Amino acid sequence: MSSKLFNLCQYETNKLVRIRSVRLGSLKWTLNGLILMFICVMLLWNKTYQDFDLVVSSVTSKVKGVALASLPGVGPLVWDHVDYSPTPQGRNSFFVVTNVIVTQNQKQGKCPEVLPYGKVCETNKDCEVGASTQHSHGIQTGSCVKSGFRKTCEVSAWCPIETKRNPPRPALLAAAENFTVLIKNNIRFPAFNFIRRNILPWMNDSYLSHCQRRTDPLCPIFRLGDIVKEAKEDFSKMAVEGGVIAIQIKWDCNLDRWFQRCLPKYSFRRLDEKESNRTLYPGLNFRFAKYHTQNGVEGRTLYKAFGIRFDIMVFGQAGRFSFIQLIIYIGSTLSYYALTTVFIDWLIGTSCYSVESRQNYSERKVESVQDKQQCILSVSYVDEPHIRLVKRSQKKSLQLVKPMAVQQHQEDTGHLTAMLGALQQRNPQDEPPKPASDPGPDPQPTPGSGSSTGSGSNTGSGSGLSEDSGPARPAWCVCGNCKSSSHPQEELCCRHSDGPCITSSPLFEQLVLRRSLLDTVLLYRDPFIGQPTEGMQTAALRHCAYEQYIRWRFGVPPLDTHPAIPSCCVRRIRAEYPSLDGQYSGFRLGGVVSMQACSNGRL
Ligand code: ZN
Ligand code: ZN
Repeated sequence: MSSKLFNLCQYETNKLVRIRSVRLGSLKWTLNGLILMFICVMLLWNKTYQDFDLVVSSVTSKVKGVALASLPGVGPLVWDHVDYSPTPQGRNSFFVVTNVIVTQNQKQGKCPEVLPYGKVCETNKDCEVGASTQHSHGIQTGSCVKSGFRKTCEVSAWCPIETKRNPPRPALLAAAENFTVLIKNNIRFPAFNFIRRNILPWMNDSYLSHCQRRTDPLCPIFRLGDIVKEAKEDFSKMAVEGGVIAIQIKWDCNLDRWFQRCLPKYSFRRLDEKESNRTLYPGLNFRFAKYHTQNGVEGRTLYKAFGIRFDIMVFGQAGRFSFIQLIIYIGSTLSYYALTTVFIDWLIGTSCYSVESRQNYSERKVESVQDKQQCILSVSYVDEPHIRLVKRSQKKSLQLVKPMAVQQHQEDTGHLTAMLGALQQRNPQDEPPKPASDPGPDPQPTPGSGSSTGSGSNTGSGSGLSEDSGPARPAWCVCGNCKSSSHPQEELCCRHSDGPCITSSPLFEQLVLRRSLLDTVLLYRDPFIGQPTEGMQTAALRHCAYEQYIRWRFGVPPLDTHPAIPSCCVRRIRAEYPSLDGQYSGFRLGGVVSMQACSNGRL
């Protein structure tokens, strides 16, 4: 329980590799400096330290001006703002009539339909009573009557029917160019509770009566001609068919105390299709009528009005310093510094660096770890120079499993030197290696580590084990000293093809089994090892002997593999240093037996 708690209470941090290089160091600082500069420029330029809010606005407008217009059939007329802004002003827009087609004295009656809306006919049979189309001016009466040079179907309608289709050129009310409009725009930024008007506090009556857009960009009164001109259009041309112009008011406000600035900025552009000869239904027009009663009969004057609609659009935002925004921005930019690492790592990987230094960096930086699940065993045969890497199999004897790879034997030079030294200073009184010593009763395997009672046969090898006490050697053994096991991973011989057993080599006695050497190794590891009990001592010696074998045969075992000790060697070592209770832990996973475990005799 407490150990679980202890495991929770720990902190992991990344391990870094520092490359001492002037080139890379200065490159790093240059890149980081550039990134910092970029971050600062973006901070000031985009004001990312500010909280933003969008504008909420309302607009009203008032058009003023008077023009004298001569209308065909009507005569000269003075038009004031009531006449030229006939429709109720829409939301955020106003309309100014610039051209008109007048059809006077229309009354309810019957008259021939005009072409091209009407139907050309020869006799009354060609006309259908009560018929009408989307474009017709009235409902057909069923008669075919003369209309100019042709005959068309007669309709019940407001007669006479409007005949003129194209607007007059030049526009009749082109003088509307000189009209002015006063735009009143109230805005609010709800998040900051900030209110402002485009008619600024210092603007008084005399200012407003004289100000001009041309000289003062803040003036809220605009001449229509100027607006159209700023939209890069010609008023007199546009006046003929009409169109739509946008008046854009942009509020870009900085509400920070020291930099407070919140003024409108006006701009204009045309919204509808400019090329009237290329589009269907160009311009903007609509009809309205003025009604009157003459001699008890109701009549009307029909106006087809062409004009310019001005749409007022207000947009913009306000910003004010916000500590939270600043923190968020700084946080979001920290990742940019990773670009330096990515770039320099990439640079190291490219051919800018020699293969050796590239490999050096990558070896220092990357630690390869095998997936432990796979469990790779390393096998060393005495008749093969390299080490085999073998996948552990649950069914097949280790001896028979095909290797997945081979690796060069990597000498543990420190160990080799120590062993050579130990061999040279060999104590003359050292007991001679036991010739074919009796290993005693065959070591009892632990429950589960194989119940085979067979021991190796004594065919051949001089070091031999005891006289045969079991069945013949297993099929996979080629040295003759191995014993079958219920664990396939323990079924390994010391060689691959026929030949003498490694345990028969004099070096096996001297490097693996010699008591004085093992004692020295144990004492070397723990100078105050004291006098352990006999059982513990033999266990420690046995495991040191295993380790000696691994160091001798494998040198430095391949990374992430488990060295496997041949069955004959295990038997020989167990015979030399038997367990008192006859219990052995058998093959277990784990790299080289740890020193501590070895000296403790725990394994
Ligand atoms: Zn064998
Ligand atoms: Zn052998």
